[in-house]
Amino acid sequence: MAPIRDQIVDDLKNTISRLESRISELEGQLGHGGSSSSSSAEGVRMILIGPPGAGKGTQAPRIKEKFCACHLATGDMLRAQVTKKTALGREAKKIMDAGGLVSDEIMVNMIKGELENNAECKSGFILDGFPRTVTQAEKLDEMLTTSRKPLQHAVELQIDDALLVSRITGRLIHPASGRSYHKVFNPPKDAMKDDVTGEPLIQRSDDNAETLKKRLGTYHEQTSPVVNYYQKTGIWKPIDASQEPGQVWQSLLKVFDSKVVVGGQSGSLLNKLGLKN
Ligand code: ADP
Ligand code: AMP
Repeated sequence: MAPIRDQIVDDLKNTISRLESRISELEGQLGHGGSSSSSSAEGVRMILIGPPGAGKGTQAPRIKEKFCACHLATGDMLRAQVTKKTALGREAKKIMDAGGLVSDEIMVNMIKGELENNAECKSGFILDGFPRTVTQAEKLDEMLTTSRKPLQHAVELQIDDALLVSRITGRLIHPASGRSYHKVFNPPKDAMKDDVTGEPLIQRSDDNAETLKKRLGTYHEQTSPVVNYYQKTGIWKPIDASQEPGQVWQSLLKVFDSKVVVGGQSGSLLNKLGLKN
């Protein structure tokens, strides 16, 4: 019975921590004439969930700029290891090219290290591609509960698989920065060159139709449950990611500006306490 009690206590701690954060947000809004708009001064703590090609890496830099937060893309971090030819990079490359997932332990430690040591993350963070499993989500919650800085938004970029083939097979990236382009939908100013540095763009080795099929299978099997996980917490916000990038950005701004729905949180608290019919 003890593990179940531990789980309930952990759940309650998480919920209380989220409520404390929500209350301080509300107090902040009252102190600013009741405006509900988020600003860079408030920072942001959020995750972007979505299948490969949904647009996480396209939208994250805009959020980063708005909130001066750090953008942690676990795929980019792994590719940096691959480029450096570290032991982890060599192991990760095989898994990435097969469309699988690198172990939870490695990924959780990677994010933990960044959140604790990366000065850019002091005013908030956007996690892109993490958490990808329920275990990763639980570990992230534990980490953030300990630091009393719970997540504010779990944004799901929703899109049909059928639209992702052309996005992924036409994607070009600038490896050093993680900036992504598209041959048709978002071409660089000069063919195959990064707009900012002029350095060459490349196509990822896993950005082909065959590997995409496997990556989508992995997404539906292992990452979709992460959506259910955040739906229960009250911070899940779905966005239609099939719109053009400017429209997706407008939808994101609405998420940041949305009025705080205390009922969502308290409803989930009542659920957790078993006090709601
Ligand atoms: P993710 O990080 O979720 O895997 P990206 O942001 O890298 O996805 O986007 C995948 C590809 O689709 C890129 O080539 C990008 O330029 C393009 N793209 C991103 N958002 C849109 C959109 N809303 N409409 C059309 N193409 C898009
Ligand atoms: P991405 O750049 O987000 O498309 O990620 C590329 C690949 O890196 C994925 O297909 C996985 O193999 C691996 N990867 C990235 N993030 C994670 C994560 N959070 N957990 C496990 N594997 C990951």
